[in-house]
Amino acid sequence: MSEMIDELYRDVIMDHYRNPRGRKKLDKPDLHNEGKNPSCGDEIEMDLKISDGRIEDVHVGCVGCAISVSSGSMLSEVIKGRSIDEVKKIAEAVKKMLTGEPVPEDIGLDIGDLEALEGVKNFPVRIKCALLSWTTLIDSLESYSESREQVRAQ
Ligand code: ZN
Repeated sequence: MSEMIDELYRDVIMDHYRNPRGRKKLDKPDLHNEGKNPSCGDEIEMDLKISDGRIEDVHVGCVGCAISVSSGSMLSEVIKGRSIDEVKKIAEAVKKMLTGEPVPEDIGLDIGDLEALEGVKNFPVRIKCALLSWTTLIDSLESYSESREQVRAQ
């Protein structure tokens, strides 16, 4: 039974790898960030369009292994249209899932295909690959929140 599940998850991951979502470049993004995972050679660029505290659109350009590319593709699907607060919650939950920490049951959000990445926690060298897009996203949103706070403080 567990082999069947693994196969299903492998299919989900390979589907995102072969047809990554969120590839389309954005016109005048509000945020741009880049990330690297030197241990594997994965590289990512991420653009976000934000309006009214929501992720209006996202572009993920990732070059690397199947895990990093599919994780970035899943990210683009899951975060689009969500509020920044929701996205931060999801990102924290995904980080926990990937590092084998207990994930709060009631994050109350559908993380879609992302559960296919849960098995990555059993492959420590792959964890950084799966995390790359998420740490890049968190970075980006933190710099956004900071710049907003500065505006408010002025
Ligand atoms: Zn990788």
